[in-house]
Amino acid sequence: MANEYSQDMDIIKGIGASPGISIGPACLMDASRIKIPRKNISPAEVEQEKTRFAEAVSLVERELQELVADLPEEIKEHSSILTSHILMLRDRMVYDRTMELIGSRRINAEWALCEAFKGIKTIFARIKDTYIRERLEDIQFVVERVKSVLLGTKAAADLFDKAAPAIIVTRDLSPADTLQMGREKAIGFVTELGSRTSHTAILARSLGIPAVVGADDVISRCIDGENIIVDGLKGLVILRPSKAVLEEYREKSRRYAHYRLEVIQNSSLPAETVDGYRIKVKANMELMDEIPMVIQHGAEGVGLFRTEFLYLARRELPAEEELFNVYRQVAESLAPYPVTIRTLDIGGDKFVSNLSIDDEINPALGLRAIRLCLKERGLFKVQLRAILRASAFGHIRLLFPMVSGQTEIVQVRQVLAQVKAELDAEDIKYDKDLKIGIMIEVPSAVLIADVLAREVDFFSIGTNDLIQYSLAIDRVNDAVSHLYEPLHPGVLRMIRMIVEAGHRAGIEVGMCGEMAGEPLYVPILLGIGLDELSMNAMAIPKNKRLIRQSSQEDCAAFASELLGLDSARAIKKRAVEFFHQNYPADMETRDFLEFGISV
Ligand code: PEP
Ligand code: MG
Repeated sequence: MANEYSQDMDIIKGIGASPGISIGPACLMDASRIKIPRKNISPAEVEQEKTRFAEAVSLVERELQELVADLPEEIKEHSSILTSHILMLRDRMVYDRTMELIGSRRINAEWALCEAFKGIKTIFARIKDTYIRERLEDIQFVVERVKSVLLGTKAAADLFDKAAPAIIVTRDLSPADTLQMGREKAIGFVTELGSRTSHTAILARSLGIPAVVGADDVISRCIDGENIIVDGLKGLVILRPSKAVLEEYREKSRRYAHYRLEVIQNSSLPAETVDGYRIKVKANMELMDEIPMVIQHGAEGVGLFRTEFLYLARRELPAEEELFNVYRQVAESLAPYPVTIRTLDIGGDKFVSNLSIDDEINPALGLRAIRLCLKERGLFKVQLRAILRASAFGHIRLLFPMVSGQTEIVQVRQVLAQVKAELDAEDIKYDKDLKIGIMIEVPSAVLIADVLAREVDFFSIGTNDLIQYSLAIDRVNDAVSHLYEPLHPGVLRMIRMIVEAGHRAGIEVGMCGEMAGEPLYVPILLGIGLDELSMNAMAIPKNKRLIRQSSQEDCAAFASELLGLDSARAIKKRAVEFFHQNYPADMETRDFLEFGISV
């Protein structure tokens, strides 16, 4: 069958959103948007139209609630994605606005809903933060589901023929559809839209179903029912594979299953090198539903808890009690492991409803993170109170972002002392020995790391920003992304400076930027002598495995060698060679090295 088409083999390069390989028939869902009719209605029909809309919303609500109730144990943690969709159905901007438009413009419910959604899109268009922008997708999924009920068409998941296992090929998928199909017979997902961080991608990873997103034109290039290959490791979709390619992939799929099993089974083993160097491997997290994944993947605590999500895209600032409950829950769930809570890193291009921050020409250099918190003392104190209170319920460490000089630490300490005094006066318990640390992510902080090390208990290197600021590259600007180079000699020298300054002062130095979770860099970081690496939970098992196969002595010699090289290019070449020599069985990383994507 396969070789009949071999002339015709077509390879589409997308983004690997969930690792693994699937081979099977394509189930094509052409989600070309259904046309929405606009109808004018008479004043007498307004109430009836409103009722029709309300009933459609209730129906979708019930469907989603049923889906939540039926979630299998392994993916129960993701129920919050669907619960948030249920809440979005009743959101003022969606529900009330549609009702309002039906009445004021006297139009049909479908059209009013589309108009309401257009308004939401305009608001979101001003937001640069990718995480927040992706939440627009969530609203869109909810809107689409209500629309299909109003129009009497079916949701994507209901179109899927449940009889045989298949790879779903479509334009985009809602988290609800992904779950529904993943629990039935879907063995792979391919979408034209989407990103690695979309909820659909997160769900596919939790379900362990290979997925490729951003596969351009796949709908017009793929034939329904034909056998295709989804390579979630390399981010490839192979249509009409030749016999040889098919064979190669069957073998690769077997090897991958074996590899993955071994990696996961050993994820709770310590990250200790063959010569006895023990490094802590922790998780970065942001949302509560990541907690089970963090624990299952063998994290020894949370090295970076980003706290922005409670402040974004909402009308009111969160109250102390709400923050406290979240921090307490994380601390209790992870105890006795520590949770490093980073105070608010927001401002400039991120959206906080209740704070009026002026438009800035250069938001990355503007009023963000600790600068904003030191200006908005009230907001800062509420968060600090919540963190301190939660510290009585587990092991919390406090981390301050974007510190550029010693004065900021002095000011932060003053605010912290005030908050502690207030809690003491109110007889509220907190951890009196709470450790405080700072992110090292601004070049000036690197240069005075010796001074800063005297003021705090630990350092955490934020390479995402440190690279941005030291190489003068906007981290969200695609035009300069090729210059974003973690292996730039300047970056490596800075990392070494920070580690040396920290260790001379007797404090621990960790890293929580993306660099810490990329297997290619891990031997270098081990060699430089970092005490802790914090990364996305998915990356923990494979990096722990890699650490267990490493010799710290060899890595140290290797890091010194790299630090003597002149360019990022020369360093990368040597790093890749070292990797191939020392970790030949690392499948996921080999694909990463070849294709420049990580899994
Ligand atoms: C960093 O800058 O490396 C970091 C971890 O923080 P964020 O990505 O949240 O700015
Ligand atoms: Mg940062």
